Formats: sequence, structure tokens, C-alpha cells
Amino acid sequence: MKYILVTGGVISGVGKGVIASTFGTILKCCGIQVTLIKIDPYINIDAGTFSPYEHGEVYVLDDGGEVDLDLGNYERFLDVTLHRDNNITTGKIYQHVINKERNGDYLGKTVQVVPHITDAIQEWVERVATVSVSPDGAKPEVCIVELGGTIGDIEGMPFVEAFRQFQFRVKKENFCVAHVSLVPQPKSTGESKTKPTQSSVRELRGLGLSPDLIVCRSENPINHDVKVKISSFCHVAPEQVICIHDLSSIYQVPIVMEQQRIVEFFRERLKLDIPLPRPKKFMHKWKDLAARVDNLRRDVHIALVGKYTRLEDSYASVTKALQHSAIAVGYNLKLTYIEAANLEKATKLSNPVLYHEAWQMLCRSDGVLVPGGFGKRGMEGKLEACRWCRETVKPFLGICLGLQAAVIEFARNVLGLEDADSSEINPETKHPVVIDMPEHTKGQMGGTMRLGKRVTEFENKDSILKYLYGKDRIEERHRHRYEVNPEFVSQLEAAGLKFVAKDEQKERMEILELKGHPYYVATQFHPEYLSRPLAPSPPFLGLILASCGKLQSYVARGCRLSPKQLSDDEFDSDYEDKVTFSLQTKLNSIFVSNGEITSTSEVEVKTGLHKLTITDG
Ligand code: GLN
Repeated sequence: MKYILVTGGVISGVGKGVIASTFGTILKCCGIQVTLIKIDPYINIDAGTFSPYEHGEVYVLDDGGEVDLDLGNYERFLDVTLHRDNNITTGKIYQHVINKERNGDYLGKTVQVVPHITDAIQEWVERVATVSVSPDGAKPEVCIVELGGTIGDIEGMPFVEAFRQFQFRVKKENFCVAHVSLVPQPKSTGESKTKPTQSSVRELRGLGLSPDLIVCRSENPINHDVKVKISSFCHVAPEQVICIHDLSSIYQVPIVMEQQRIVEFFRERLKLDIPLPRPKKFMHKWKDLAARVDNLRRDVHIALVGKYTRLEDSYASVTKALQHSAIAVGYNLKLTYIEAANLEKATKLSNPVLYHEAWQMLCRSDGVLVPGGFGKRGMEGKLEACRWCRETVKPFLGICLGLQAAVIEFARNVLGLEDADSSEINPETKHPVVIDMPEHTKGQMGGTMRLGKRVTEFENKDSILKYLYGKDRIEERHRHRYEVNPEFVSQLEAAGLKFVAKDEQKERMEILELKGHPYYVATQFHPEYLSRPLAPSPPFLGLILASCGKLQSYVARGCRLSPKQLSDDEFDSDYEDKVTFSLQTKLNSIFVSNGEITSTSEVEVKTGLHKLTITDG
């Protein structure tokens, strides 16, 4: 097993997670099996009890683990399935050691940070590194470990010490350190400042770890002289300094990184079995994706009506899932965050400007998304958004709490059950259309929800989502305590709110669709967690297509995206040699199939990087 430790210097939030994911992506493109571990040195056992304002969204894994959002980046970039143990926290390590102590495993000994905590960290990493993260059960060959925070944080010290020991445990050719550091470029001079990087590298060395790679993050490109300066002051060769400036999209990062000969570096340093020269098509999917993202010309405006809109990371996976779909459809996502409470009548009185601004943003959007959430604040505003989408026939996607909001709004305004509510929000309501699930353990907050991957089965009903998923049985990730009250289902359905999919026991309402509305869809599960850049999640794809006015033509085409909106299959295909698509122009239809062309006029077709000129005959 080979290990790459990724540490951070100067400040946090410079994109260490993206750098770690990028290493993994590039190595995976070389045919190497990669797994990743994220270390969060806080004392919480997991991220489950955090407010999204603390560290951004809580990411949920197949096994129900509630983890740091960086694991979402890893899963999306590498298309892997991680496990809860791939996220280590100080809390988990201490809990493990304390349990062992109570069990008498250290009988007679004083239990200490060194060696007991540091040993537990090393054992955990070694154990998790061997666990497969791919569907075929392949054993990982490289494990990338990202240490959260920055070097020098008190909380991170036991982990740094553990890895100082670890480098000797696993031997030099199996372990290397990449240090991600900020190179500020103050506006006044525009000059790149290397001092902060120098001192953070010095600090890392002082703790017994020497960087093998220094990844410099900066706003603008760093010139060669600065690279040389960092190399000489930080005691590394110039090829060990990698510069990643702010790029047009995160999909450019693997490309810029690869150009700096990172594969050659890892191959040499970790003695990896990577054949050279690399195939002609090396990373072509990423290159195509990055080029496509840079060439999006039209915009689609989506309003996200939520409660944690002050911090964009609170909805990281939802935002990414919307982007994946918009890119697939060939649109630039313009996302507006609307604070749900601002849509409420109470705000109209207390702050009319905010109220009218919020409504203006909602009215301007092409489609609306109400994401998951907890608690009372903003709920009435979410109900207003649901109502507006229902009445004005605006494309709508509700997720988890968004589904519950759609049910409450419908019960109140269509069924006339005026005080209809969720028992989470009003336990006294006479019409609890959303109720606690039996397994919800009151009083115990951590890890007690209905969590992780569960089966959802479509009913034998007309359903747009069944069509978009293309199957009767799906598996998606959950995170909730409340559910639609089965007692109200027949009443809701009779009035047009159809529950088109349920869990395996047919007890839980998983998907709702409004009859007669082109796209009024909500899911009790969180489809955002399984969306991938090259395989967008169907509920999001539906929202984007409906918002661009393209849902019907997509369905009519048998759920295939047109050439400009390449679907995953087409994206995979080797279209340098073989082009299979149909194209509509204003004048006529041109069919190009394996080189056979039928057309009557001259057109130009642009597909990602390749520009084809097709002339009649
Ligand atoms: N608060 C709701 C519940 O617990 C919704 C949760 C969510 O949106 N993730 O059921």
C-alpha cells in the first residue's frame, strides 16, 4: 500500500480537498486503484450533529455515515463509494481507545497520547486503506490521507506525530507528503509572496515530516522565478513545486496538475507501476468535460429556497448536482440562494425590501429547488415557494424537508386542512400530515435518523421520475426523522398529489409528483449525494430540463440528450473515430451515423474539443 499524506499550510480553505481528489483522479486515470481518508481533528464523533454553518453540509454515505463534505468531493471526483471509517475524527479515535481501556486491553498501563492514541491512528489508517471502495471489490493500491486544518493546530498534533512515526513503519518508498500552501499576491504589487509558505514548511519539518511536494495555491499563475525561490527556500527540487492558481472550473485542476508532470513524480517517488508513454486518450474525459464547462453559452436560473443560505457550502452537494445536470444539458447554472424566511408575510411587515427582493428573485427563476433542512425557521417561506410553483406551473424539485413542505402546503391549500403541519414543527397540530418515524429515538441526537442507502420502488403509476431513472427499483441515500403520515395518503392522492414510489415495505412515501404539472417532483431521499459530473442525478436532470423547456423533447427522444447535451454514454464513446448522433438545425435534419451523412446544406458541428465541418456529400 502506498500512502500520500496531504497537509495544509498558512490558512485552511485553500482547496486541499480538491487537491487530494485531483491526485486520486489522476492516479485512477493511470489505472491505479485509489482510496481516500479524511481526518478531521475535532472531538465530535462525526459531522451528524453540526449545523451546516459550522463546516458546510453534512455529507451522507451509503452505510449511513454522516461525514465531512470533502468525502463528497472524493466520491464525485473518483466515482468511488466510501465508508464511514474513511472519515477519522479525534472523537472516534479517543472513543476507540477509551473503549479498549474499559475493556481491560491496556491492563496495568497508563494510557497516553503517545503511544496509544498515535498507534490507534496508524492502525486505523492501515486498516481502512485496504477496504475496497469500488463496486467490483478491487483492493486499493494507493491511499490518500487528507489532514484537515493547518499544520501547527493544537488539535492536529497527535495526527502529525502519528504520521511522523508512520513514515518509518511503512518505509520511504510507500509514503510521501504533499503540502498545500497559500501564496498570496497582494493587490498593491501583484507580487507572489513566498514567506508564509516558507514558514509553514519549516513548521512541518520541525514536526518531523518533510514535504515531497509543495502545492502552491494562488489567485493568478505563479511565474518560474517564484517557483525556483520556493524550491530553494523550502529545500525541494523545482519539479517538486506545483502551482495551481484559481481556474475557470474545478474540472481544470486535474488538467493543470497533470501538465506539471505529477504522474512522473508519483511514479518515481512511490515506485508505482504506471506504463509509459501514457495512452493518447489519457484523461480525455476530464479534458472534454473541462472544455465543455468553459463553452456553455446559455444560462438556466434556479432559485434555491433554503435556510442556511449565508454559507454556500451548506448546500454543496445540491449545488454540484445542479451543475452536473446543467452541464449535461449544455447550460450555465445561475443559482440564486433565497432565504426562505424572507418570502414570509412577517418579513413583508418587518422588512418589505427584503420581502420584495426575495419574491423578485423567485419570480425571475426558471425553476425552484427546496432542499433538506431541520426545524421551524423559514418553513412558512418554503411553503410559499411550493405554492407558487404549484400554482404558476413552475418546475419544482423538493428534497427531504422539501417533500414534506410540498405535502403540508398541498394539505393546507388544496385539501383545506388549515393547520396541517409536520410534528417536527407543530407537535400540537390536528392534521399531522408529516409525523415522527417509529425508529426515531427521542433525546439521542447523533446517528439516530433513518440514514444511508435504501431501496425505493416505483409503483405502477404514471411517473416522470420512473422514466428519467429508467428503472423500477432505485437505491438512494436518506437522512431524516420524519415521514409522510400514511393516514393522509389516500386523501392527498385523490386530489392529485401522487406518491409514485415507496420503500420496499410499501410504508414510506419516497417520491411525490403532482398530476397535471410538467415537473412538480419531490423525493424523501437525497439524490444529490449520488450525482456525478458524468452521470447527473435524474431528479436534478429533470428539474434542469424542465427549467430550460427541454424536458418534453428529451422524453420524446427516449431520454437521450442531443449532441450539444452529450449524455454519459456518448461522452464515453470514442468520438474522435466514430460520431453517432442526430442534429436538428433550423433548416433541416442531418443524420450522422458512423460516418454516413445525409444533409442538404453545410453546417458546422461543435462537440467539445472537436470541431467537425460537415459538407453535403
Ligand atoms: N427535518 C426533516 C426530517 O427529519 C427533514 C430532514 C432533511 O431534510 N434532511 O425528516
